[in-house]
Amino acid sequence: MFSASIWEKETFYSKQDIVIVGGGFMGLWTALELKKVKPNLKITILEKNVVPLGASTRNAGFACFGSPGELLYDEAIWGENELWKIVEARYKGIQKIKEHFADDVIDFDTCGGYECFSKSDDSIYDKLNDLNKNLHRITGEISCFRKRNERLESLGLTGFSDLIENKLEGVLHSGKLLKFLSQKVHDAGVQILYGATFNSYETINSSLKEISFNSKSIQTTSLLFCTNAFTSQLLKDIDIVPARGQIIVTSSIPNLKLRGSFHFDSGFYYWRHLGNRILLGGARNIAISEEETTDLSTSNTIQNALEIFLQEHIASTYQYEIEHRWSGVMGFSANKKPVLKKIDENVFMGMACNGMGVALIPLLSEDLCKLVLNDFN
Ligand SMILES: Cc1cc2nc3c(=O)[nH]c(=O)nc-3n(C[C@H](O)[C@H](O)[C@H](O)COP(=O)(O)OP(=O)(O)OC[C@H]3O[C@@H](n4cnc5c(N)ncnc54)[C@H](O)[C@@H]3O)c2cc1C
Repeated sequence: MFSASIWEKETFYSKQDIVIVGGGFMGLWTALELKKVKPNLKITILEKNVVPLGASTRNAGFACFGSPGELLYDEAIWGENELWKIVEARYKGIQKIKEHFADDVIDFDTCGGYECFSKSDDSIYDKLNDLNKNLHRITGEISCFRKRNERLESLGLTGFSDLIENKLEGVLHSGKLLKFLSQKVHDAGVQILYGATFNSYETINSSLKEISFNSKSIQTTSLLFCTNAFTSQLLKDIDIVPARGQIIVTSSIPNLKLRGSFHFDSGFYYWRHLGNRILLGGARNIAISEEETTDLSTSNTIQNALEIFLQEHIASTYQYEIEHRWSGVMGFSANKKPVLKKIDENVFMGMACNGMGVALIPLLSEDLCKLVLNDFN
């Protein structure tokens, strides 16, 4: 252990107004919002890894706000009001991403999203009108969800009976979004320290905390945890459970018919085109407890299930290899709702977007910003 130089103390380790732990989408969008509201704030993000590593760089890149099956499932848990509040935030979150980044910068493609069903379920169609009415209010689109069974064959899908389209959904390149968002945050004057692992904090007085990381320290007025699935490793009594999600990507498939983002089995399987390749993720439901881990390796159980699903339902007529395999980790709260809260004097957390943070976080970060600034003198 060696001391910091005066140059380091007066620059990189100088006293901050807000230290954010975690440089994924939540940490970045919130830092940008804080700077927009109070440009003079001194903000540092501590990110443990060379590249943020958890969910934001490891996801499927769906810009989605909920398939009919998922919306009905969530409505049963949250109630109608809460459901539509969150759906609206997801929809507006996608619009906010598009306001900040041109489509070609982040490969945004409004290709449409679909939910596939293995057997016809009239109860979904009975409720489609109500779902569409609520979505009309939010999106201005009259028939957001439409039955599209006739497209199953032209998309090359097999073993499904029904298909419902959401023409407003799309896909994007998560790596590009995170990279260009990080640049925007840096350009707004936020310091981002990579390879900086938060260790602990100590309260010096009501408006001063000392943050320890990598045998270094930095003082700050406020501290914000955006550490998603890793939070329970850092803080006591936090009910966020890690949920690993695994993904495979095929080699290029000439004449691939698939285009769009797809959900099946309450979102437990999801796939999309990626150029002329197929990206498929999910199958977590066959080994729920094994997948409650922050270990970013892949498992044979899930990888085999994904390969079988791919062959049976998505790519039965194509020749391909699996060229990429990886996993990421989501943070799940008990009721599937995001958690934004104060946990100590001038200490806050914002996380657990439960698998749909790409769309939700841009808006959620505005609420988190208000929560943090509420306590700020
Ligand atoms: C496989 C998979 C597929 C998904 N697909 C989609 C999708 O298609 N569409 C969608 O909307 N959402 C999707 N999601 C969810 C979405 O990616 C997340 O909701 C979102 O990225 C969460 O962002 P975050 O910043 O809260 O968390 P993270 O991106 O996990 O960021 C947390 C950060 O905290 C850092 N950290 C942890 N501990 C420390 C420490 N001690 N010190 C410093 N830093 C620390 C980590 O390194 C990490 O970078 C998916 C997630 C997964 C895993």
